[in-house]
Amino acid sequence: MDCPRCSAATSVKDSRPSANLIRRRRVCGSCGHRFTTYEGAEADRLSTRTARQTREKIGALSKTLSAIQDELRILQNSVKGLGE
Ligand SMILES: [Zn+2]
Repeated sequence: MDCPRCSAATSVKDSRPSANLIRRRRVCGSCGHRFTTYEGAEADRLSTRTARQTREKIGALSKTLSAIQDELRILQNSVKGLGE
């Protein structure tokens, strides 16, 4: 990874696991800027996002379903009201 300040190459001074991430201390070989990066599995974040999107879709579909059921009840009542 390049230095965010001067874009020169950086080296890893230290790396340690932190939860599901690897924390890396990096130092720039040119300007000496020190910073930290975190490395984690994209698949984990993707599945978290997919799970959230799925829950949102289910929520939206449930609302649609209950709106359809309400509409159906209203129509059934109006059919009854017509003295079938
Ligand atoms: Zn630098």
